[in-house]
Formats: sequence, C-alpha cells, structure tokens
Amino acid sequence: MSMIQGKTGEWEVVIGLEVHAQVIAESKLFSGAATAFGAEPNTQVSLVDAAMPGMLPVLNEKSIEQAVKTGLGLNAKINLNSVFERKNYFYPDLPQGYQISQYLEPIVGEGALTLDLPDGSVKEVGIERLHLEQDAGKSLHDQHPSQTYIDLNRSGVTLMEIVSKPDMRSAEEVGAYLEKLRSVLRYLGTCTGNMEEGSMRCDVNVSVRRPGEDLGTRTETKNVNSIRFAKLAVEHEAKRQVAAIEDGGEVVQETRLFDPNKGTTRAMRGKEEAHDYRYFPDPDLLPVVLDAGWVAELKRGLPELPDAKKTRFIADFGLSAYDAGVLVAERETAAYFESAVAGGGARDAKQAANWVTGALFGALNREGVEIGASPVDADKLGGLLDLIQDGTISGRIAKDVFDAMWESGKDAAAIVEEKGLKQISDSGAIEAMLDQVIADNPGQVEQFKSGNEKVLGWFVGQIMKASQGKANPAMVNQLLRKKLG
Ligand code: ADP
Ligand code: MG
Repeated sequence: MSMIQGKTGEWEVVIGLEVHAQVIAESKLFSGAATAFGAEPNTQVSLVDAAMPGMLPVLNEKSIEQAVKTGLGLNAKINLNSVFERKNYFYPDLPQGYQISQYLEPIVGEGALTLDLPDGSVKEVGIERLHLEQDAGKSLHDQHPSQTYIDLNRSGVTLMEIVSKPDMRSAEEVGAYLEKLRSVLRYLGTCTGNMEEGSMRCDVNVSVRRPGEDLGTRTETKNVNSIRFAKLAVEHEAKRQVAAIEDGGEVVQETRLFDPNKGTTRAMRGKEEAHDYRYFPDPDLLPVVLDAGWVAELKRGLPELPDAKKTRFIADFGLSAYDAGVLVAERETAAYFESAVAGGGARDAKQAANWVTGALFGALNREGVEIGASPVDADKLGGLLDLIQDGTISGRIAKDVFDAMWESGKDAAAIVEEKGLKQISDSGAIEAMLDQVIADNPGQVEQFKSGNEKVLGWFVGQIMKASQGKANPAMVNQLLRKKLG
C-alpha cells in the first residue's frame, strides 16, 4: 500500500472510479440512429435523439445484451428486473431536458475486478453496480467566434456506467484498474475501450484519511479521458487535499475538472450547486425484465477472459505471473503467443514469451503496428524459434534474423539460407579458428595459464568476431577450455 508523507505524518489515499463505457452496438439506446465514430456532425441523429415532441423511445435489445455480458464478465449479480428513470437537468446539448438512466434499480449489481499490479501481485476491487444510460450531445465552442454549435451524433448513444467501490489506494492501482477493465471489455466485445475516441472516460473520486480512520470527504474529478490523466488527477488531488487539511483547512465535497496541460485539477461546482435530479421512472418505458435462461445462455457463450487465461498460461506453459499477465492483456496478443508456441511440437514457451514481449512488442511499438498486421506473424516467429531450438542459429544471430523478417516479411529459414547465417557447429571448423587465434595471441594464452579466467571471454569474443557471430558459443567454450588445458 502506498502512503503519502505529509508534514504531520502519513496519509492514506482512497479512490473510487465511475467509468463511462460506450457500448458497441449498431444503433443507439432508444433509437435506430447509427453510432459510428468520426461521422460529420448531426448526421447520426433521429427525431428521438433530437427530442422532437411526441417521439417515443424504443429499447435496443443489443444494448441490454452487452450490459448483461459485461456484468457477467465482472462476476456481478445480474438483476432480472431493472428500471429506466429520468435524470432531470438542463444543458444545451441535452435536448430532452433529461437523461434516461438507471438509478434505484440498475441492470447489474455487485461484482469484482482483479487488478494485475506491476510487481506481479493481484488485488481485487469491488464493483458497486453497472447501469445503462444515454450519452448527451456535444457543444462545439471552437467553430464560431461568438456562437456555440451543437453536435447531436452522440445524443442517445448507449453508455454503461461502471461504478467501483472505494477500494483503490494509489495512482498505480487506478492505472491497473482502468487497464484491466478495458481488457475485459475488449475481450467481451462490449466496448472498444478507446479512450482517445471518448469511448471510455472516467470520473475520479479521491479522498484522504489517516490510516485506520473512517473515509474522508471526497472530490470528484469529471470526464478524465486517459489512463495517464487519471493517475495524474489522483496524485494531484491527494497532495492538494493533504496540504489543505494540514494547513488547517478542510476538503470541500465538490466536482472538479482535470487540466491536461497543467496536470492539475480545479473546482467546477460545489455541493451547494449540486443538481437535484428529481429522478423518476420514465413513463414511456416499461421495466426491463430478463429471462434467467437467456442470461445463462449468454454466460455459456462468454469467451475465456483474461484472468482464466492467465491462470491457464501459468499452469500449462510455466510462465511467470508477470509474463502471463502481459500476454493475456490483449486477446490478440494471447492468441498470437498460443499459436507461436503451438506449432512445431517442442517449442519453449518461456522463450516464445520473451520473443513476443521483447523483439515483437519492440518492433510493433516502434512502427505503430497492431499485432494482427505484424509482418512477422505467429507462424513465422514459431519458425524462428525452431531454428534456435535445433541449433541452426544462435540466439544472437536470431535477433538479426528477426529484424530481416520484419523488413522483408520472409520466413526465418529463407533468410538464414539467403544470408548464410547458419550457426557453425562443426567442431573441425571451430577448432581451426581456435588454433589460429591461439597461435596469434601467445600473450593472452600466458595470462590464462597464470590463472586469469577472464581471458577466456576475450577468446570467445575473438572467435565470434572471426565467425561473424555464427560459431556455436557453447562449443567454442568447450573446445577452448580443452585446448588451453
Ligand atoms: P455519486 O453517485 O454521488 O457520485 P456514489 O456514492 O455513487 O456517489 O459514489 C461514486 C463513486 O465515489 C464510487 O466509485 C465510490 O467508490 C466513490 N467514493 C465514495 N466515497 C468515497 C470516498 N470517501 N473516497 C473516495 N471515493 C469515494
Ligand atoms: Mg458520481
């Protein structure tokens, strides 16, 4: 647990997150309008989304299915009865004058998310609830010098609000929570998790307290749109609150805004300005009643999720918890790894994991390529592993072969053949090189004989140089010891 050191002692930081995740669905929560990202303003707006008089909402079944799947993926209680309510407030980009949301009876109740922390340990964070609601439109302030434009494309798009319990204790845990939640949503296919497109955003609730005390007063920093910003918001808020209390003041319960340019938060509105939303059940919509059999069927159809996959990777492949966690974070990465290990029979899983998280991730990041579009596909990486395994090439040469594979898209065997990179494991050839180096360097031989073991490494280096890295290092070592006596 990470504590903050203040002037007057230690403080514990307490964080709870409310994540808004846009549901993957062709159409909006209560209308047939499309939801594609990046469309021209106001081209995906039905009369319902524009709140024309007399329009009635019609519930989109796909949105319900996605929320239930997500609830199941979070090991949460699925409420067979839930109710849509009106949350009343005035805002220019909210044409209805209210948002249809769920309040007292959400579709999903309590669940849990397991965080994979950087040191390989895990921590469980409680989920309070998940409910469905409509997104609002967007005010555009930068299109005209004195007027604000409104884009209603987002108006009515389905959001899942996923509320955690106040179980997190550091910015690091907040990062791990958002990463894991995004991973689960992507596995389930219920949200793209693309924070830069606004498909996932979060409200960050932070308070501080002396270890062992009751929960302190919290602030809520709204609409944070990247994991990095969420962590910065936590750090800044925690420090600000500790300083305020230690200076004799207090934390005011309020809504704050994150400033990405400064990495700080500032007050937006206080508790006294808090809205009275006057929730009441929407009279245009019936309560949502789910069939238990239908829910059970969705449960059976869920994919293997990251936690189960991680456990299996550790058990079946003997990977460390850390490696397994990295490999299962994205479904595509896990699939790539599994097929790279699967072919060929005797491939070493640990070695495969190192190649995926090392050379492959390095190249993908450098070139900004998705794993599905990698010029070195799983089969080709498997081919490279086979050549290392059977001694055709050394691990060192393999790095060069990988780079050449990345550049050309060719398979490993073709490149080794073309460039003559086969490892020299012929003892006659290696002995001849050794004899030459020994004859040329009597001084070093003398040093070795007088007990300087380090010279051995120097000799190995000479042979590797002479053979352009192709001599089998194990054989070089062995023959060298024999020759130098
Ligand atoms: P509201 O709906 O008014 O935002 P909730 O009680 O639903 O209030 O809480 C919202 C979020 O705030 C939850 O994620 C919860 O975990 C978190 N939270 C509640 N109390 C605290 C606290 N004292 N410190 C930090 N986070 C808190
Ligand atoms: Mg809130």
